[in-house]
Amino acid sequence: MLSDKDGLSEGMILKSRVPHVCGSNLWTIIYLGSDIVLRCNNCSTVVMVPRKKLFRKFRKI
Ligand SMILES: [Zn+2]
Repeated sequence: MLSDKDGLSEGMILKSRVPHVCGSNLWTIIYLGSDIVLRCNNCSTVVMVPRKKLFRKFRKI
């Protein structure tokens, strides 16, 4: 799997520092750009996070 300069790749699972409202804190990266698009593994909600803020909200597992 190719990873980008931040060590991220599409399909990678990240953990949010604060759980989603559905109770899960696991997310899958579905798009990598200057914004990162993630989908909640539990409820399939999609969120977009600026790359600069990603590691404030999510961490690698
Ligand atoms: Zn959720």
